[in-house]
Amino acid sequence: MSSQTSNKTAGNDGWLKPAVDAAARGMIAIRRCARCGRNHYPPREICPFCLDDRLDWEISDRANGVMLAQTVLHHSNEEKFRARLPLRVGLVHLQCGPTVVAFVDDRCIPGSGVMVSARLDEEGRPVLAAVPQQRD
Ligand SMILES: [Zn+2]
Repeated sequence: MSSQTSNKTAGNDGWLKPAVDAAARGMIAIRRCARCGRNHYPPREICPFCLDDRLDWEISDRANGVMLAQTVLHHSNEEKFRARLPLRVGLVHLQCGPTVVAFVDDRCIPGSGVMVSARLDEEGRPVLAAVPQQRD
């Protein structure tokens, strides 16, 4: 296998540019529907709840939520993941509405509060990562 990068990066899709730009700055971009007011992630071009296409971006440095479940990947068909195995992946229900898939820190446990942020993967696509919420 070669290590060439794909020409089909998410940044080439104009409507996803705000999410890619946000992730490049470590920020998460959630779509909010102007009609029904519900949030969704991953970003879509139309609202998955009411099918309206008037969607805004809500960009923040993190989204708080509760980790619902986790799994540990010991195998991947994706070469880019093999060097990182085992990989912890979890479902996180965000306070702003969506339930997302994120890479999770070893300290995150199901039922606990987590903070989710975004970053770009090696192919320039936004990915989410969760760490435990900081206690004040
Ligand atoms: Zn909607």
